[in-house]
Amino acid sequence: MTNDNSKLTKEKKHQARQQKLKEKVDQRIANATKEKGLLLVITGNGKGKSTSGFGTVARAVGHGLKASVVQFIKGTWECGERNLLELHDVDFHVMGTGFTWETQNKEEDTKAAQSAWSDAKVLLSDDSIDVVLLDEITYMVTYGYIDLEDVVECLNKRPAHQHVIITGRACHRQLIELADTVSEVQSIKHAFDNGIKAQAGIDW
Ligand code: ATP
Ligand code: MG
Repeated sequence: MTNDNSKLTKEKKHQARQQKLKEKVDQRIANATKEKGLLLVITGNGKGKSTSGFGTVARAVGHGLKASVVQFIKGTWECGERNLLELHDVDFHVMGTGFTWETQNKEEDTKAAQSAWSDAKVLLSDDSIDVVLLDEITYMVTYGYIDLEDVVECLNKRPAHQHVIITGRACHRQLIELADTVSEVQSIKHAFDNGIKAQAGIDW
């Protein structure tokens, strides 16, 4: 076989493989006909959970959807996403306490968590809200600051079109089961481990 012929055969084979792949993808797209408000969970130890949640909020706002955010752990820093998204009519409800290992006061943390959760409950029963981001809510459940059964019930009863995004490490199994889409961000390495401090615009 000449070089030209062999190149042609390779191209044809490649084309046939791509055509098969396209048919498979087209079939899967044709099968996906349902529409509903989704529950997304972004969990795991790697960096990228909150940024993914905020990215989805930005995506939704870009389509004219109404989104609200509840931040269950308030850092000591300002939050770049808040500075931007508030300009686009995204309401923020921020838990009025610092990180738990800073406050070390279970009673105060529980009160703050429950107050943020009551804000979240209002959003979860408001059908004018299309997307709700519950940032770092997993810790509130793990620490027992808010009641898992109540969270599950409110998620189940929310407006049918409403999308909810949950972020945080070690998400409870029951929330993972309830979710439509779950991603686990795995840490391969993080700059912080090499003594690099949190950078504005990247880490907060
Ligand atoms: P991000 O907000 O950057 O998406 P995240 O939500 O996945 O991060 P969190 O556990 O909420 O992660 O931590 C928030 C802060 O801790 C961020 O500044 C982030 O860069 C940092 N961080 C995240 N993962 C790690 C890690 N594996 N080691 C050290 N610092 C981390
Ligand atoms: Mg986070």
